[in-house]
Amino acid sequence: MGVGDDGAILMAEDTARGTGPIVLLGPPGAGKGTQAKRIVEECGVPQISTGDLLRSHVKNETELGRLAKEFMGRGELVPDQLLYDIVAERLRAPDCERGFILDGFPRTAAQAGWLDAFLEHEFFDRSRPGKCLPFVIRIDVDYNELWLRLTGRRTCPLCGRIYNVHLQPPRVDELCDLDGSQLVTRNDDREEVIRERLLAYEQQTRPVAEYYQQKGRLVSVDGSLPVDQVAEQIFHAIERHARDRC
Ligand SMILES: [Zn+2]
Repeated sequence: MGVGDDGAILMAEDTARGTGPIVLLGPPGAGKGTQAKRIVEECGVPQISTGDLLRSHVKNETELGRLAKEFMGRGELVPDQLLYDIVAERLRAPDCERGFILDGFPRTAAQAGWLDAFLEHEFFDRSRPGKCLPFVIRIDVDYNELWLRLTGRRTCPLCGRIYNVHLQPPRVDELCDLDGSQLVTRNDDREEVIRERLLAYEQQTRPVAEYYQQKGRLVSVDGSLPVDQVAEQIFHAIERHARDRC
């Protein structure tokens, strides 16, 4: 591996940011969307959601989209190979050169294995910053805290403002501060729905997290802290990872 002058050049390129491939995991209510947006803004890497990719392929009636639509139309999961083709095509785009954030993928250890193999084959380049295997940032929040965050959510049907009856209550119980409307609990915020969403997250995520943990590429951050402090932990993790060169 190049040191000396080469090293100096790499350092200079590093300061131009970029993250390498990141997989972001976190339960509903952990603020994953907010944190992903920060990384996109700070580091200039794209966020890639497999759900969005699938929808856009279907909408644009690409060959892959037509295939995917057949499965989705029957209410079936899109087969892994089709998903791989869609993800591979996206990751070959030039805007992924310095890194990207994956959202909704990989969902299984098999998919994580495929992603490693794909990146190793087509992307990995030890001499270039960001050209490394993915590392995973998992935003952890304890169950009780998530429960308060999720079950306390109330929405104003008129202006759309979101409150939390436990954490950010309106001035008058159940009424919007801005327009006095009666706040509502959206279907997604009902207790039985939340219990299922949290359970589904646990079951889906565990094998993926274990896969990366075994490879030494899993970092957990404390998601119970305020948003800025969570972001700070994430940026430290990204910098450390970039320094260690995967
Ligand atoms: Zn309102």
